Amino acid sequence: MKNFNPADNIQDLQYFGEFGGVNPSISDSSTYTFLSAKTMFDTFEGNMEGCYLYSRHSSPSNLYLDKALAAMEGTETANVSASGMGAITPTLLQLCGSGDHIVSSRTIYGGTYAFLKNFIPRLGIKTTFVNITKLTAVEAAITPETKVLYCETVSNPLLEVADIAGLSKIAKKYNLTFVVDNTFSPLSVSPIRLGADIVIHSLTKYINGSSDTVGGVTCASRSFIDSLKNVNSGASMLLGPTMDSLRSASVMKNLHTLHIRIKQHSHNALYLATRFEKDGLKTVYPGLKSHPSHALYKNMINPEYGFGGMMTIDVGTLAKANELLELMQSKNLGYLAVSLGFYKTLFSAPGTSTSSEIPIEEQLEMGLTDGLIRFSIGLDNSIERTYEMMKTCMIELGILKK
Ligand SMILES: *Cc1c(COP(=O)(O)O)cnc(C)c1O
Repeated sequence: MKNFNPADNIQDLQYFGEFGGVNPSISDSSTYTFLSAKTMFDTFEGNMEGCYLYSRHSSPSNLYLDKALAAMEGTETANVSASGMGAITPTLLQLCGSGDHIVSSRTIYGGTYAFLKNFIPRLGIKTTFVNITKLTAVEAAITPETKVLYCETVSNPLLEVADIAGLSKIAKKYNLTFVVDNTFSPLSVSPIRLGADIVIHSLTKYINGSSDTVGGVTCASRSFIDSLKNVNSGASMLLGPTMDSLRSASVMKNLHTLHIRIKQHSHNALYLATRFEKDGLKTVYPGLKSHPSHALYKNMINPEYGFGGMMTIDVGTLAKANELLELMQSKNLGYLAVSLGFYKTLFSAPGTSTSSEIPIEEQLEMGLTDGLIRFSIGLDNSIERTYEMMKTCMIELGILKK
């Protein structure tokens, strides 16, 4: 565990293609032949390492990406999936059955929230949503039926930081499986090192980084991943959210530039957040001293990758926010779009309407206001130039004074 560096761990892997290619060959097959019937039987039973049976179960291309992402998170192995939700939902269904209970952060990705709130109660699984930054509230929500503690390292859209080490102590005390969605903070945070049991990513965001696909991964112990892929009882195997080999090969190629991209995203976001805060805008960024969890987060991150590319500002009203977003898009400063981790800045105004799970007074108390703008800061070459152009837009709309 000494000198753990997630990008170095990826770099230390070596693959060759079938003909000595510098990229591994893409496995373009759904099914695989066997020389002996006995080997086929053993593979079916899960007793044959290195043999492939059928690509919903595993394929060489997916195993390359599994290996790289497991190296990044420091887990024994991993299982890639067709989307982030395709990783989250089978993982939770594998861990919980009828009568079980989940304690989850209340500020999680909307799809995950909807799954916990609206979908799995049909299967007899209940969830209590808590303020994840209050460890006492988390502990108080645990019941004898609780099986899973679930959170995101950095939450959307308010950029609240979960104290992974503190939460892991609680999870261990009550024998819960601690699942962390690390989509907002790949490389910056290594949740397993801080005590998480399972780490999930939506590869759709930073890890793939080119907004051309959806994908996901569950990074965990070999025994948990084997249970997910079990032909008789595995939620991933049976629900079938399999990533296609062509896609996993392309995500793999993008993964190799992740460390360079994350550093640039973090550099650019810190620059803009610092300038906007100085200009008097209400700015939220975990890299700012004013962020309530700045000291905690500073201790959690692998420092060379920085505080990430996500920040928010508040311009007062939703109408003003929308005006600014349209103006910035017209000046080609970014795109008015959801999602994150793209080379170009993406921005949207989540408003109070997207977090309807939280009572409106609490939303306001948390800082979720109508004038909030969420930015996924891009890889802009000159962020100083971008700042000047954004500032000009804000002056034009009377958000900032000249
Ligand atoms: C986007 C996202 C997801 C869902 O991933 P998909 O690839 O869209 O299925 C889950 N968690 C977080 C934090 C996300 O941002």
